[in-house]
Amino acid sequence: MDQPGSPEQAAAGSVVCARCGITAEGDTAPVTWLSSVEDGRRLHFCESCARLHIRAIESRLDSLWW
Ligand SMILES: [Zn+2]
Repeated sequence: MDQPGSPEQAAAGSVVCARCGITAEGDTAPVTWLSSVEDGRRLHFCESCARLHIRAIESRLDSLWW
């Protein structure tokens, strides 16, 4: 049987909000989460952060501005 192994591997396979850092349940982003690609990296934002992030996208601000 394959054991998940180290916490680092578990973290790599989980979805973490790029803004507040909470971890989603399961290994895929919930439908309420927003995913965005910045600098070639896929970022995920939880439901509450997504609202803020959408405003940032609309105003074309990079996440560095937060
Ligand atoms: Zn968040």
